[in-house]
Amino acid sequence: MSAPSYHFTPETSEEIYQAFQLAKKEGLTITIRGAGRSYNDASLNGGGIVLDLTAMNQVLEWDPASGLVRCEAGVTLEQLWQKVLPDSWWPPVVSGTMTTTLGGCLGANIHGKNNFRMGTIGEHVTEFTAILPTGAEITCSPKKNGDLFYSIISGLGMLGVITAVTLQMKRIESGLIEVHAWPTRTLEEQLTSLEEGAPDHDYIVGWLDTITIGHGQIHAADYVHDDPDPAKMKVSYQTLPSRLFGVMPKGLLHYFMTPFFNNPGAWLINTGKYVASLRRHTFRQSHAAFHFLLDYIPKWELSYGRNGLIQYQSFLPKDTALRTWTEMLATAKERGLPSYLGVSKRHRPDDFLLSHALDGFSLAMDFKVTDSNRGNLSEMLQEFDQLVLEAGGRFYFAKNSETTAETTSAFLGDEAVEKFKKLKKRTDPNGLLESDLYRRIFG
Ligand SMILES: Cc1cc2nc3c(=O)[nH]c(=O)nc-3n(C[C@H](O)[C@H](O)[C@H](O)COP(=O)(O)OP(=O)(O)OC[C@H]3O[C@@H](n4cnc5c(N)ncnc54)[C@H](O)[C@@H]3O)c2cc1C
Repeated sequence: MSAPSYHFTPETSEEIYQAFQLAKKEGLTITIRGAGRSYNDASLNGGGIVLDLTAMNQVLEWDPASGLVRCEAGVTLEQLWQKVLPDSWWPPVVSGTMTTTLGGCLGANIHGKNNFRMGTIGEHVTEFTAILPTGAEITCSPKKNGDLFYSIISGLGMLGVITAVTLQMKRIESGLIEVHAWPTRTLEEQLTSLEEGAPDHDYIVGWLDTITIGHGQIHAADYVHDDPDPAKMKVSYQTLPSRLFGVMPKGLLHYFMTPFFNNPGAWLINTGKYVASLRRHTFRQSHAAFHFLLDYIPKWELSYGRNGLIQYQSFLPKDTALRTWTEMLATAKERGLPSYLGVSKRHRPDDFLLSHALDGFSLAMDFKVTDSNRGNLSEMLQEFDQLVLEAGGRFYFAKNSETTAETTSAFLGDEAVEKFKKLKKRTDPNGLLESDLYRRIFG
């Protein structure tokens, strides 16, 4: 997705304030942007200003004794783990790519493969500072300005600009993680595995073949306690290699994947992956390799071709998930619009205002967009939204790109939407912070 806008890269809080003054004077809106890795229009602002926070990227304080780290908002997860890992710490919650910024991670309130155990990233923030469009600089923690703490985190950059964050890291004893892999034959088996496996593991995630519908594999992973080799804590040990088999630059890999990103090719990949995953086995790998699999293939999204993909992620309560996703997958098959990749996770609810999580599961599906399927796909995803609403489910604003204002009100509830709008009036009385996403989901 793209949208033309004015691009401004502040280096200080003062410059952020100046951007707000300029926007007010010129009658423009501002969208805050981290690394721009959301799958949708969360950090786009057609015709307005994009405030790019990536130049505010200093780790300000690091205390290896307590595991507390204070960073500017443009620090990426990559910078963060590389700073703390040599001292035997790891970020408690990470996304599937390390290229995201802390500001963006808080704006969407990201979850990891351990959401059922560790919650969202916001639950590990002890404090952050933010600049409001009024020019006020505020500090928020669960106890101080609590209402803004629980709404700026998850608030999609619509209430204020997070400038610095203090986070509690997780102590680890080894640079390795132990992964148990086993196949699942049906969606039902996959959801049962996630539910029954979660209490026994630090992380759990499912891969689902959404083409043949139901074949899959579970990866359940645990921190390692018996291999304290300091060499494995080194960044050089963890860093993903830049060449495949030591020869081919990984940056070229997506060109070789493109021919497989069509219905028969995706069937072949999914079937091959399932056959390869039939053997139940256990292996150890680095933290970076386990968490950031997609970073192995830079620009993997280009494999989908010029129109890209839509990632559709829905969150469903335990008792309606199987029925609803079974219906969705059957509909996608019937319409000839299969998802090429399915990823399932186990979740728990949290206290953030625009929360996506609940006591249940999520399924993320990647749909290829083409000139000819665009309308049909959009219609199908809106049908999916209705199924999710009827099943008591929720949506994640960093992913789906079809969710409407009606759907948003229906799943968040009028009370949460009103509360958010009231807070927005307080922090942003002139309505300077807006994004394409905001206009879509709040009307
Ligand atoms: C390959 C891949 C894997 C992913 N895996 C996961 C996953 O496992 N779990 C998960 O939860 N998400 C996942 N995501 C989504 C991603 O983590 C989120 O979209 C995240 O918000 C992106 O961070 P960013 O820095 O790119 O932010 P952007 O996309 O630039 O912005 C995200 C939102 O945060 C706001 N924002 C940005 N900076 C600030 C700031 N300083 N202050 C206030 N608001 C701000 C923006 O306005 C926007 O609304 C994945 C994305 C990709 C591409």
